[in-house]
Amino acid sequence: MLLYDLTQKFSLQEFGIEIPLKDDRVTKTLEYLANHPVLGSLLDRFSVKVIDEEITREDLLRVHSRDYVDRLFSEKLEQEVLWAYELIDDHGNYHRYNPANARLPLSLLLKNDLDKAAGVLQCCKLALQKGFCFYFGGGSHHAQADFGNGFCIVNDIVIALRNLQANQMIEKAWVIDVDAHKGDGTAALTFRDNSITTLSIHMAKGWPLDGPEYIQGGLNPSFISSDIDIPIESGEEDAYLERLEKGLKKLEALSTPQIALVVLGADPYEKDELPSTSGLRLSLEQMKKRDLMIYRFLKERDIPQAHLMAGGYGAECWQVYANFLEHVLLEQGNR
Ligand SMILES: [Zn+2]
Repeated sequence: MLLYDLTQKFSLQEFGIEIPLKDDRVTKTLEYLANHPVLGSLLDRFSVKVIDEEITREDLLRVHSRDYVDRLFSEKLEQEVLWAYELIDDHGNYHRYNPANARLPLSLLLKNDLDKAAGVLQCCKLALQKGFCFYFGGGSHHAQADFGNGFCIVNDIVIALRNLQANQMIEKAWVIDVDAHKGDGTAALTFRDNSITTLSIHMAKGWPLDGPEYIQGGLNPSFISSDIDIPIESGEEDAYLERLEKGLKKLEALSTPQIALVVLGADPYEKDELPSTSGLRLSLEQMKKRDLMIYRFLKERDIPQAHLMAGGYGAECWQVYANFLEHVLLEQGNR
């Protein structure tokens, strides 16, 4: 199944945030599938176009600290958003943010994140019913227990999985995170919890691993390990697929889940335009092999799979999603 809600879409520029990346990957991917000679006529059959789940305060409190949740629902929200989107520099001045250009209030970004978390939850439920679901959003893997980070205010991955666990829909889950950036928030929020097993394959250097290892007297949570971390150095791209395959086999030895949540970032793609992804440059062909390796691995084991779009920036990244979904939908359409 494909899950998307086109009313959820707006650009950061509308908030006065000066990050000039055009995000039309959702519409471009859907256009490609709609114009496909075989899939075009099947697309409606595979699509759910309304997000009708809701994320409650209780959902947030299973994942984030009470203090942080209270701040998000107070006048301190704007400060939290400025922090999560890194809109203030070390001197306390606005950085790539001009409130004069904003048409929408920053507070709407929290609602946006909660809507996306609702999409992730719905994606998981559809995956449990149908075996496979891809949500055109989600993957806010950098949000930590007590603060937002890396454009992520709340962690939609752990929120969805905790909801499923609380409602006895699953006991155990895997998170397979192949975004270019380490799934640091997810690792920290599920550390030493055997019910959620995490794998992250990511750039060995750069954000979020370029900060100090200790902050305010404690370990920087970005350095907390996933159950399986696979750091890839710049120039090691040719070893990527083999190392991912080994990682998946290790994952299998650690637990048997009722669902796998795949954080399917397209930002390891060599044509990704976000400067902080330049440490990993996989070709389009390697990206397709990556995505199909995970898909087949889970399918062969009958593990329901919920995929999230996660990172992917610039004019070309939509092709990564389009290649993957074309293959999966053709396979499902032929059944
Ligand atoms: Zn990323």
